[in-house]
Amino acid sequence: MDCLFCKIVNKELPSKVLYEDDKFVCFMDINPHTKGHCLVIPKEHAENFTALDNDTVGEFAKLVHRIAPQVAGMMKADAYNVGMNNGAAAGQVIGHVHWHIIPRYRNDGLEYWGINEEEVSKLDERFTELDGKIK
Ligand SMILES: [Zn+2]
Repeated sequence: MDCLFCKIVNKELPSKVLYEDDKFVCFMDINPHTKGHCLVIPKEHAENFTALDNDTVGEFAKLVHRIAPQVAGMMKADAYNVGMNNGAAAGQVIGHVHWHIIPRYRNDGLEYWGINEEEVSKLDERFTELDGKIK
């Protein structure tokens, strides 16, 4: 499989690793949006969040919960984003699930969600098709 992140896991490609254990690795994003932008990935290949099993999701979330404030603290950031893009239309570029940790700085100018105010204004806030249908 020709997966960039699997190659990072297997040390076939260089990366700046901040943390590693038997199941996950955290490394610097090569196209950082802010200073300290890093990614956490499971070592085992999974395309996206949906493809992960429930136990792995739990471990993944706990790890990001532990790492993100440390990264932000070490970077002396004012805040941080954690975010995950699932699918090309959502901005996922590499098809190996990854959780972004993006330290944020007051007035850093980053518009992380790329919100289009005009499109947002057209949305109905109720989304009635979702009511009571989440299993
Ligand atoms: Zn992979």
